[in-house]
Amino acid sequence: MIGLDQEEIAALLAETGQPPYRARQLYASIYRRQVLEWERMTDLSRNFRAAAAERFSLELPVLRELQAAVDGTEKFLLGLHDGQAVEMVFIPEPKRDTLCISSQVGCPAACRFCVTGTLGLKRNLTPGEIVGQVLLCSRRKAGILKRLNLVFMGMGEPLLNYDAVMKAIRLLADPQGMAISPRRITLSTCGIVPGLHRLAREAVIPLLAVSLGSPDDAVRSELIPVNRKWNLESLLEACRAVPLRKWITFEYTLLKGVNDRPEDARALAQLLRRFPAKVNLIPLHSHPALPYEPSGPEAVARFQEILFQHDVSAFLRRSRGEDIQAACGQLAAGQSSARSAAAFSCQGFTGAPPAAS
Ligand code: SF4
Repeated sequence: MIGLDQEEIAALLAETGQPPYRARQLYASIYRRQVLEWERMTDLSRNFRAAAAERFSLELPVLRELQAAVDGTEKFLLGLHDGQAVEMVFIPEPKRDTLCISSQVGCPAACRFCVTGTLGLKRNLTPGEIVGQVLLCSRRKAGILKRLNLVFMGMGEPLLNYDAVMKAIRLLADPQGMAISPRRITLSTCGIVPGLHRLAREAVIPLLAVSLGSPDDAVRSELIPVNRKWNLESLLEACRAVPLRKWITFEYTLLKGVNDRPEDARALAQLLRRFPAKVNLIPLHSHPALPYEPSGPEAVARFQEILFQHDVSAFLRRSRGEDIQAACGQLAAGQSSARSAAAFSCQGFTGAPPAAS
């Protein structure tokens, strides 16, 4: 039942002869109060609860493992009903917290600086499994939703699981439910152009982060293979079509000798000129499964400085949870095959949300 909207809940309940107001009560219990135990839904009649418990499931993903880093970052390994697993990362910060969630098991996009990209796609998550990650976190940490930035930067390419992700976003943002403002939800993509055009027509639009990789089509095609289908020009055109609240965040994972030279910085600045953009410079987390090394601190500083000189806002992201490989850039490979199936990554997430405006 988790992942259904109020109309769908009403339709299900109608099959058992229940009036529409029951759906409102149940919806509020699941999403607004995050109460999922039938016996605790005391605004519902005892008879209804007993019948509903027999018929409907309110199961969340199961917490299989929790790793806590010294900086407070927590990495959750979550088991799904069919034995698959995804990861979720919670990053506490003084003024706000960030929850990084997954949209697919594995990922078909195969970005070459990403461990999840080496796994291929196992399957899409359902809306219930996406919302379930947030519910699981909020039930462990009371009151967390008010100060949460939610980022789709876990396993998977959200725009390749479009319908489920957008349904989940509508549920998460519903003021009658979990009421997470779309301004505090960031969808991160490696550049699925048709998905961006669909997104532009949505009523509820989250903030957008785009993994750029390189300002050069040939290099970008090497790093982010979807660029062979949708090149930089078509990507930026699609980005322009999305109604922006403020800016688009471009994620740029710095790779030694590949995309971190001064000419790359100048080309990036040129590409983004007159674009409402800010750039997050992401340190690569080295991993044996990846063919790249992180850029050195001097190259990073020089890159950022050149962007500044060209009036491009550029932020260097601080890694979080490094002692548990929780920095969402690349995690978990090198573990058992079962754990590798939950290797976690997307667009070099480092714990800092890209665009809370
Ligand atoms: S960076 Fe994101 S889109 Fe690319 S392969 Fe990794 S999970 Fe998929």
